[in-house]
Amino acid sequence: MSASTSSSLLDNVRIVLVNTSDCRNMGSAARAMKTMGLSQLILVDPQEMPNGQAQALSAGASDVLANAKVVATLEEAIAECGLVVGTSARSRTLPWPMLEPRGCGVKLVDEAKNFPVALVFGRESSGLTNDELQLCHFHVQIPANPEYSSLNLAMAVQTLSYEVRTSYLLAQEQDYKKSKPVQTVVATDSEDVGEDEYPIIEDTERLYQHFEDALKTTGFIVPSHPGLIMTKLRRLLNRARPDVKEVKMLRGILASVERAAKNKN
Ligand code: SAH
Repeated sequence: MSASTSSSLLDNVRIVLVNTSDCRNMGSAARAMKTMGLSQLILVDPQEMPNGQAQALSAGASDVLANAKVVATLEEAIAECGLVVGTSARSRTLPWPMLEPRGCGVKLVDEAKNFPVALVFGRESSGLTNDELQLCHFHVQIPANPEYSSLNLAMAVQTLSYEVRTSYLLAQEQDYKKSKPVQTVVATDSEDVGEDEYPIIEDTERLYQHFEDALKTTGFIVPSHPGLIMTKLRRLLNRARPDVKEVKMLRGILASVERAAKNKN
């Protein structure tokens, strides 16, 4: 097995539960994770802290629950992540790039080779807010019964963690075949493509903030009537997924625009 598919790769996959109200779901989610080899659980502003019931439901995965990191905001939970996928039981008004569960597992495992990645789950009552969903690069929906598509939170964690594991095992198998002296597999085009270096969320958020500041300076955004400009710009940039060098270039462009606007005023 190569370093890229060692078990530390799965340690780069973070499961983030936002504002969970029933801590028994945290216990069941921890169990679901451990059965699939995942261990990094982050609780964002939980409505109750894991108690004895949560521990009982986590069964042999009480270590995952005990090691869970508790943070106040989703931004904090994903700041170091280079790829963030939000989950949703229903389609939202603002269309966003979507992944199928299988494709989601493949993408998470592939990019976990480069940086921490996150799979974000919402509240039992209302899921993730639109603002939270806009912090994600992609959304994933488990194609459940359209008449009743809302899974229990921990079962959604189980389903998507299984996809991560399936893709991890496949990657391991491919690495094993590649490491054999006689090449038994034909390399596909995608294996020849070099990795782009993507920014982590913290840096992407700085870019969005820079856009907002610059567009206020130029007068394109009127603070009293901002409209949906930033949401639409986020969606556009998210779709393009600029790499580290492109983010740097965009920030340089924005700085020059700000300078020009200030000199004119
Ligand atoms: N009533 C909420 C659903 C909450 S279910 C709503 O309408 O949005 C709790 C969480 O489980 C969701 O936020 C999501 O993270 C996950 N989940 C449940 N069903 C899902 C599905 N079909 N696909 C993806 N995630 C799902």
